[in-house]
Amino acid sequence: MKDSNCIFCKIANGEIPSRTIEENDMFKVVLDVGPATKGHALILPKDHYTNLYDLPEDVAAEVYKTAKKIALKMKEKLGCDGVNIVQNNEEAAGQTVFHFHMHVIPRYKDDGQVIGWKPGQPTAEELDAIAEVLK
Ligand code: 5GP
Ligand code: ZN
Repeated sequence: MKDSNCIFCKIANGEIPSRTIEENDMFKVVLDVGPATKGHALILPKDHYTNLYDLPEDVAAEVYKTAKKIALKMKEKLGCDGVNIVQNNEEAAGQTVFHFHMHVIPRYKDDGQVIGWKPGQPTAEELDAIAEVLK
């Protein structure tokens, strides 16, 4: 299924040109136009899924295999010092394009980027309580 109003459907299916670094039947992997670092790539399924919640399991499994391949390619060809895998679901989590995509972000020592969170300081009781909820 494609969504005719979705920019990533158009990119993934070649209607809008992109800087493609990998492609197979399921995915197109393109350079992000607003990269966090040099080489920041996006894995785009060719079919439209809004986010992780509606991603079929077979696609979910393949996306991580693709991420591994791209991460290793970045290590080899860019000589990066690390790689972040980032995947945002819904606006509250930072999703801005509502077609599932996985970020593969090469990291370089002292690249100045911040991808993270402020660690909380929950009590043991609070951790116990949330573990109960999520079990
Ligand atoms: P999100 O915030 O939804 O996880 O990430 C969306 C990403 O898509 C951003 O990093 C943004 O730079 C990238 N992006 C937005 N529009 C385009 C586009 O037209 N082409 C490409 N290649 N990347 C895009
Ligand atoms: Zn789409």
